[in-house]
Amino acid sequence: MTDDTTPLPRSAANGAANGAANGAANGAANGAANGAAGTIWRWLDKAPDAVAVTGSDGRLTYRELHRRVEDLAAVLRGHGVGPETPVGLCMERTTGMLVAMLAVWTAGGAYVPLDPAFPAGRLAMMRQDAGIGLVLTQAGVDPTLLDGVPAVVTLSPGGRPLTGAPAPAGGVAADGDRLAYLMFTSGSTGRPKGVAVPHRAVANLLESFAELLPIGPEDRWLAVTTLSFDISVLELLLPLFTGGRVVIAATGEVSDGWALRERAVAEGVTIMQATPAGWRILLESGGVPATIRTRLCGGEALPRDLADALLADDAELWNVYGPTETTVWSTAGRVRPGPGAVDLGSPIGRTSLHLLDGNGTPVADGEVGELHIGGAGVARGYHGLPGQTAARFLPHPHAGAPGARMYATGDLARITPAGRLEYLGRADQQVKVHGFRIELGEIEAALRAAAEVRDAAAAVRDGRLVAYLVPRAQAVDWAELRERLRASLPDYMIPVRHTTLTSLPLTPNGKLDRAALPTPSWTRPGTAAFRAPAAGVESDLAEIWAGVLGATEPIGADDDFFELGGHSLAATQIIARVQARYGLEVPIVVLFERPTIAGFAARLDDLDDAELSLADVAALRDQLDGLSAEELQGLFDDLAAGS
Ligand code: AMP
Repeated sequence: MTDDTTPLPRSAANGAANGAANGAANGAANGAANGAAGTIWRWLDKAPDAVAVTGSDGRLTYRELHRRVEDLAAVLRGHGVGPETPVGLCMERTTGMLVAMLAVWTAGGAYVPLDPAFPAGRLAMMRQDAGIGLVLTQAGVDPTLLDGVPAVVTLSPGGRPLTGAPAPAGGVAADGDRLAYLMFTSGSTGRPKGVAVPHRAVANLLESFAELLPIGPEDRWLAVTTLSFDISVLELLLPLFTGGRVVIAATGEVSDGWALRERAVAEGVTIMQATPAGWRILLESGGVPATIRTRLCGGEALPRDLADALLADDAELWNVYGPTETTVWSTAGRVRPGPGAVDLGSPIGRTSLHLLDGNGTPVADGEVGELHIGGAGVARGYHGLPGQTAARFLPHPHAGAPGARMYATGDLARITPAGRLEYLGRADQQVKVHGFRIELGEIEAALRAAAEVRDAAAAVRDGRLVAYLVPRAQAVDWAELRERLRASLPDYMIPVRHTTLTSLPLTPNGKLDRAALPTPSWTRPGTAAFRAPAAGVESDLAEIWAGVLGATEPIGADDDFFELGGHSLAATQIIARVQARYGLEVPIVVLFERPTIAGFAARLDDLDDAELSLADVAALRDQLDGLSAEELQGLFDDLAAGS
């Protein structure tokens, strides 16, 4: 058990690794590290009839889950899946998602998440780079996303194959070195890159967190993360590893804090992990259910105000840190109430941390260095990219094992005088926006690929992506360019604002001077002509939207919320404010379906079954706003006398 109140040992952060991080970290595997697929079945004999997983489609006991996994694995073997075969998963969020992932492992293959929310062009690029010949999917997924895939097996929501014949029974021996998954992340060269993670790294993660967290068979973990973000691995597997239950939130629930909250309460969820943006959505949607006693926050720096909010009901909060390249999380720290920044905690089992300067020399106490991570979690590298792998996966001088490597994270940190590991941001142009990892270079490459753009830069301002364009002769049609970007970039990588410059600012040595890039003023995207919102509900909504989006220009009745830079958290805030103003419960999906003020206002009126129309409520409130305190008191007295 990590003692969270103990300062980070110097040895764990620098130079000679501590005992746990040394030797065993690279190379020798312990029993459970032989393959993550095998280790999660240790509860099958102990509690076969305990519920292992629930989803919007139903529930499966350990025995049923195991049966389904074996059945699907047989079909996969019939398709030729064996050790190292990459299998795409383009799935909905049902119990079948977990069945698919485990079946790929049981057949010996490696899964590759193909997020159905991604554009077809990006998925095709990932499939090509990974060498995928077979994809598992479900009926609800748009089949055109998989055009050109040699073999597709469609599964029922519960993971039963609807097509394909099983191969005769057979098994593959466990092997910790075998590939478990390929996880694509944004690439600064303009193309996503696949991180190749072996089973031993996954097994080490599970063992470490099983020891670290108070988790057991009574626990129910709400899984909210897309398969294409590696932290999903922990939330889908640790509950099985410890005899508990995975509660898979459906796609609709993941972006709707109220629905998520309802699900968590209904299922008696006790543990959850999310990014800071994810936790804020829950906090804004009626609060984190008190049954969730263990809370993990990671993927981005955990601000103190959020930590305090998550600690408010005496829950156990952990700040977890780590890049995809070292398998989900590499450090964890129990967060206590109190002033000051939240630290990164200590390395998890068989993991070593090193704070190094530009020459690879350990920095002195208090000095800023780049975090390098060694140990059992280090991935093989970037699939098919030896140059990029060599640049970041460096020889490990302190491991003691031949061939061991450490990953240069690009994260800056220092050891505080109190001995704590403090995160200080990035050394490069990788950013996080609402929990999504983005290389600004990838967006810039996509912008520069447009014929009308001579040069381009991207940046994050006020938590949003912005673009800087230097046009060639003709003007740039921003709305149209954004549409073109959508063919290769996921929605979260599309800049929401832009500004046109005659040239990009440069430093004296000719590099892009990012600090000199101006903050673009908020402008309405030119997709709809401006139509003023009607008085009453539409004007109310325009005011709410402007407040949430930080708009400095009026918002038109036909403007699209998402075009204006709206995202899940902003949508949650809009719904919360509408709810507070009108006392009306509005499903968040309404905003996704009716993303304009006019459309949303019309839907609100449909939803409202009270005697007073929303327009009446708005008018009444306007009248009340105009009254003095005495007049209001008089009104209340009259009402009281009449009752
Ligand atoms: P990803 O590969 O998507 O998990 O992103 C990894 C990067 O996210 C790290 O290199 C950090 O820059 C950032 N990150 C992850 N967790 C934390 C955390 N708890 N605090 C600060 N930054 C974090």
